[in-house]
Amino acid sequence: MSNNQLYNQLLQTVLAERPELAQYAELFTAQDSSEDSDDKELKLRLRKITVLAKRLKQDLDDALGDLDDLAQALGACEECWGRDNRCPTCRGEGSPGYFKSDKVLFEELIRPALSKATWLEVQEK
Ligand SMILES: [Zn+2]
Repeated sequence: MSNNQLYNQLLQTVLAERPELAQYAELFTAQDSSEDSDDKELKLRLRKITVLAKRLKQDLDDALGDLDDLAQALGACEECWGRDNRCPTCRGEGSPGYFKSDKVLFEELIRPALSKATWLEVQEK
């Protein structure tokens, strides 16, 4: 079995475990060296990779923005969630509840979930 075949077999195994990565499979499929020397092919692949990289960056930025909103809603440190003793913002103390929570974000993100958590016993002050 050639290295390309082994590589493609590994790729298929990864895709079976992570089907959400299927849209990127083409980028990582091993090519014959004769195809790699084709400038048009390389330019096309580079263009596709660039578009996908921009899309992934946008998805990452969106997810990080959502995570910041969630941290604010919970009163947690946006930088480390209280997991880093060297954090300049909270020195590792910023787990949920450490900071005053953002009321608007709490009402938007947390209260709807609490109201549907029938298993939760809420003690009102
Ligand atoms: Zn922190």
